[in-house]
Order: sequence, then structure tokens, then C-alpha cells
Amino acid sequence: MKIQLGYLAAGAVTALLAAGLTRHLLGAEDKMSTTTKGGKVQIVDFSDDGEKIGLVTVDRVVKTDEEWKKQLTPMQFKVTRQQATEIACSVGYWNNHEAGLYRCVCCGTALFKSNTKFESGTGWPSFWEPVAKENIETKTDYSFGMSRTEVNCARCGAHLGHVFDDGPPPTGLRYCINSASLVFVKAKTK
Ligand SMILES: [Zn+2]
Repeated sequence: MKIQLGYLAAGAVTALLAAGLTRHLLGAEDKMSTTTKGGKVQIVDFSDDGEKIGLVTVDRVVKTDEEWKKQLTPMQFKVTRQQATEIACSVGYWNNHEAGLYRCVCCGTALFKSNTKFESGTGWPSFWEPVAKENIETKTDYSFGMSRTEVNCARCGAHLGHVFDDGPPPTGLRYCINSASLVFVKAKTK
């Protein structure tokens, strides 16, 4: 009996090791759980001028790491596909005051408008509202011993940043977003 148990234990250990190895090999995919779900999603489409076009049903954008790496800069890849945070004030849009629309750098989904951007003093572009609630997804993020609400692109799962409840009126929210996850489309001057 003892021997049988021993065999069972050994079998269990082997299975665990195999599972661990598989997880190790698939580590990148594990991290990208939000990005690997396929199917359709409803988002609100906007023109580059920031005009609301309406609700559309589109395919989720699912790509491999290799495909994302071809499309993105190393910093854009780290932030959007591996949940990294860029150094404050280091790049991009925190100090951009031009009128226009901010789209997802990965899939082009409209995310934020310049008229909801405000000076948060953090060094990251900050908004009090997304263009449409459909275009973003949120989930609780327990990394670094904190409980924060992570903000992702609804269409491709790109990590955008976090949302906090210390923002200005009218929403009281502060969407603290990495520049590296955004591409700015300047409004045409009329
Ligand atoms: Zn996206």
C-alpha cells in the first residue's frame, strides 16, 4: 500500500511538473488572458474627427506575441501586451494639449477624447471619461500588493493603465493611461 501511495505521489509530482513546465512555456499567453479570447465585441465607432458613428459589432483582435512585436515598438509591446507601466513624463502625450482623439495603438479603437483630458500632475495622460463605456474593459489588478482597477481595450485586450476615483467632476474618475498604449489623431482645423 505504501509503495502504491509512493507511486501515486510520484505520479502526481510528475503531473505537477508537467503542468508547471507547460505553464512556463505558455507564460506569455497566461499573462495575455484578456487578449486571447476571440469572438465578437460591440464597440462604439468614432470618426477621426471625434464624431460618434454608432455601435458596431466587430471581431476581437487576437494576435501572437510575434505579430504584436512586428507592429509595435518594444515599449508599446511591454505596456500593452505585458502590463508594464512607462516612466512618468518619459514619452508622449501627458503634456499634449492639442484637440483630437486618442485611439488604441494596437487595434485603432477610439478610447479617449482631448476634451476629457485634464492635468493630473502625474506625468501620465489622464482622462475623466472614455469615449464610450463599451470601448474599454476593467478588471481588478492585485499586482504589487495593491488593489487597483486595470483598464483594457475592449477589442484587443491591450493594457492601457488604471482608473482611480480621485478624478475631477463630472465623473470623479481618473483614467491614468500610458502614452505608449495610445495613438493621437489630431482634429482637423475647420
Ligand atoms: Zn485595442
